Amino acid sequence: MTCVLFSAFASSQQSFTVGTATAAPGQKALGFIEVPARGDAAASIPVAVFQGAKPGPVLALVSGSHGTEYASIIALERVIQTLDPAQISGTVIVLPLVNVPSFLQKVPHVNPVDGKSMNRFYPGNAEGTQTDRVSYAITKQVVERCDYLIDYHGGDLDENLRPYSYWPKSGNAKQDATTHDMVMAFGLDHVIVWSDRPKDPAASRFLDNTANTRGKPAIAVEAGYSGTVRPEDVSALLSGTLSVMRYLKMLPGAPTVVEHPVFLGKVDTVSSEQDGIFYPTVERGTYVEPGMKVGYVTDYFGKVIQEAKAPAAGVVLYICGVPSMKKGDAIANIGEVTTTP
Ligand SMILES: [Zn+2]
Repeated sequence: MTCVLFSAFASSQQSFTVGTATAAPGQKALGFIEVPARGDAAASIPVAVFQGAKPGPVLALVSGSHGTEYASIIALERVIQTLDPAQISGTVIVLPLVNVPSFLQKVPHVNPVDGKSMNRFYPGNAEGTQTDRVSYAITKQVVERCDYLIDYHGGDLDENLRPYSYWPKSGNAKQDATTHDMVMAFGLDHVIVWSDRPKDPAASRFLDNTANTRGKPAIAVEAGYSGTVRPEDVSALLSGTLSVMRYLKMLPGAPTVVEHPVFLGKVDTVSSEQDGIFYPTVERGTYVEPGMKVGYVTDYFGKVIQEAKAPAAGVVLYICGVPSMKKGDAIANIGEVTTTP
């Protein structure tokens, strides 16, 4: 018996490589996923690999596809400093900052190299622009090699956001049960139930959906807002990560699960009808009734040109946090509570 166990143990003890980072069992390695130039600039995506001393699943943690959603990026910096490979069963791949140009240039929402959101072009394209090529590299080198994935976001520079997570329902009961448990273990108490995501793995668009359409349970989480790095947001993302690792039996101990989740079945976006100056009248997290004013838009001389009202009852997931308001941009996202997720 001892012999069999030893051999199973020994056979799982191999090094694990992502990009230039190769971690031997019980070790951590740091490096980069190098994406060569092709039409536009090359990209160099930082990666940390933790190869546990004991066998277990491969978990991928990805942040910073929007490079100014700072709390989520700093949270994965903390994860890199916190994890001890000697304590881990399995492998953890951490990409703390996918969109380096956005971070360096302080450009929200998109990669300034090609103007594309880095969470809309999965599974990517090896012959496209930088966002396409980076997305392709992450699909091949991270998504296809992991068993579970968490994608981290938050309110961007202009988004005053309350924390929440996404439960992506695929229709596959077993996978949906796992992603449900991952969301509960992560610990954010407001959960958007997202059931209308693309089903085609070749047109998966979002990172978590790229994993889910390949049979790898994945969730997305959001905390932080408006350029801030609040300790409570960072610690919620850090402790949620460790709790999911306990749920997956990659760390000893039991996960801490949400006791009273609030499920949101539909998200309404209130958009601006014109260019102008925005003034919010509610805070993130406010519960609103249908028709309640959430803010207003003026022209550049102070004349009110739009009263922005909630179309339905729900919770303000985020509200624009800056005066800049362009026609068609989101003023607020309001999540409608559902009791039948
Ligand atoms: Zn984001």
